[in-house]
Amino acid sequence: MSTIFEKIIAKEIPSEIVFENDRIIAIKDINPIAPVHVLILPKKPIKDLQSIENEDLVLIQEIVSVAKEIAIQNGISDGYRLLTNNGPLAGQTIFHLHFHLIGGKKLGAMA
Ligand code: AMP
Repeated sequence: MSTIFEKIIAKEIPSEIVFENDRIIAIKDINPIAPVHVLILPKKPIKDLQSIENEDLVLIQEIVSVAKEIAIQNGISDGYRLLTNNGPLAGQTIFHLHFHLIGGKKLGAMA
C-alpha cells in the first residue's frame, strides 16, 4: 500500500517543497514542532532506516548533505536535530523513510 509520502512524491497530494531532485524531496512538516521542521526523504520507497541496504548508503549521504544545506538556508546551522524514527516504538507513523530536520528554538531532551 502506498504511503502519503509516495503520494506527495507523485504530486498527487500538495506539499510545501523546499528541495527536490531526482532522488530526494524535502517538504515542510504539516504539523511542525519547531520554527523549522522539514522532512527529508528519498523518493525510493524504503520503509525505514533498518531496511536500508548497502546500495542505499550513498542516498543517505546525500540526505545529510541536503540537511546541512537546508539548515544553512534557514539560519540554524549552529543548532538543529536530524533524526529518524525507526518503527512504531520509536514513534514512526509513516512507513517511508524520512528524516526530521528540526530547529529554530532551544530543543528539549530526546526521550
Ligand atoms: P513520523 O512520526 O516520524 O513517521 O513522522 C511523520 C511526520 O509526517 C509527522 O511529523 C507528521 O506531522 C508529518 N506529516 C504527515 N502528513 C504530512 C503531510 N501531508 N505533509 C507534510 N508532513 C506530513
